[in-house]
Amino acid sequence: MKTGKNYKFWFCTGSQDLYGDECLRNVAEHSRIIVEELNKSGVLPFEVVWKPTLITNELIRKTFNEANADEECAGIITWMHTFSPAKSWILGLKEYRKPLCHLHTQFNEEIPYDTIDMDFMNENQSAHGGREYGHIVTRMGIERKVIVGHWASKKVQERLASWMRTAIGIMESSHIRVCRVADNMRNVAVTEGDKVEAQIKFGWEIDAYPVNEIAEYVQDVKKGDIDVLVEEYYNKYEILLEGRDPEEFKRHVAVQAGIEIGFERFLEEKNYQAIVTHFGDLGSLKQLPGLAIQRLMEKGYGFGGEGDWKTAAMVRLMKIMAAGIKDAKGTSFMEDYTYNLIPGKEGILQAHMLEVCPSVSEGKIGIKVCPLSMGDREDPARLVFTSKEGPAIATSLIDLGDRFRLIINDVECKKVEKPMPKLPVGTAFWTPKPDLATGAEAWILAGGAHHTAFSYDLTAEQMGDWANAMGIEAVYIDKDTTIRNFKNELRWNALAYRK
Ligand code: MN
Repeated sequence: MKTGKNYKFWFCTGSQDLYGDECLRNVAEHSRIIVEELNKSGVLPFEVVWKPTLITNELIRKTFNEANADEECAGIITWMHTFSPAKSWILGLKEYRKPLCHLHTQFNEEIPYDTIDMDFMNENQSAHGGREYGHIVTRMGIERKVIVGHWASKKVQERLASWMRTAIGIMESSHIRVCRVADNMRNVAVTEGDKVEAQIKFGWEIDAYPVNEIAEYVQDVKKGDIDVLVEEYYNKYEILLEGRDPEEFKRHVAVQAGIEIGFERFLEEKNYQAIVTHFGDLGSLKQLPGLAIQRLMEKGYGFGGEGDWKTAAMVRLMKIMAAGIKDAKGTSFMEDYTYNLIPGKEGILQAHMLEVCPSVSEGKIGIKVCPLSMGDREDPARLVFTSKEGPAIATSLIDLGDRFRLIINDVECKKVEKPMPKLPVGTAFWTPKPDLATGAEAWILAGGAHHTAFSYDLTAEQMGDWANAMGIEAVYIDKDTTIRNFKNELRWNALAYRK
């Protein structure tokens, strides 16, 4: 998946010249060791780059501005080894525009009881210096991640790794361009929103095209190219004819192959990383893009149904944040469809008309050709599968008129009890945290949509931190949610985010 740059994170250590050269030599040496070990740990998804110790206003300001200008720098990890008077940091912080992490660690893990003296304390005083630094970042109202603990511990390294992915989301958000094929579905509220505000807040560029402009790219795809892709489909997926004529079936599949190639060329040529379609506005396309969109999503494109550009951008964003995760379980566009309300087995069946990303699938993936109950086109070919088990998150970005809100729900994905042989779509099934009744009640009170951007590979913390960095409201629905507290949180947020 193309995500842009070879991102790195700068490691900047704070100190001052009050403690003499030997102390500063040690500070530099210690930070070098930390950077080296972090890079060797294999835990971090991106490289950490050591920077000379920051001890003066001028150097801090210069370093932070260099970080702004360096296209590969995705953020700065700051660490106060000694005390570093925080007024020195004001100008640098004021001008800094990238993700910021405060690694509140110290070089030694344990107090050296037998040898500790005042020199040692002066040299190793993160507990002291980190508070002075934290104060000024808070006073300046700058969003940052604070991670506390010994740098060599796996837990701390994993939190740093997790934050790095949030930082990539912050950096890459402004490179997301969404191609709207036709407009939002008529009369639908939740898929609407302020696109100008979305560009101001998230950096997203959201452009509309007449459907026939992209359909021309589909018509121009050569038969030879389609045949090659159809063959790939036939090798990779199970062909579920279900009584249809094999030749007629293949012709329907070939239409989707043409759409996949044509759409991808269009998106590549015009530099879009996410796309929305609308089943009611297909122009000269013969089928609603189904299998084609599923494959594009798997390649890393964002998608939203019925013109839902917010969810399309979120799916793209989350695919970027999860890119390169070892043993990733998948990220997809999803829709809450129907409930199972049997006590003890409660859950929500997730699907869409067609467009669920096969990255979330488990087991065999089949191709079916079936009628679509909506619209007026040929029966579209689609990939059919069920999804993995385990914890995941479902997110919904909504426009409340005066602000955006990101709703993040921890969910537990499960297998449905029995196969659903007559359901011709990719599905997932989950129970929202803390339970279906509370989770769904909170989701509805928060105004969450029926469309979600869903991932097994990201956490609520990562998405909430991203939202905070974008300056928007984030609410969490998880194991700790109670309706009474949640309603209060929404009330308080309405005040906190009032313009
Ligand atoms: Mn939908």
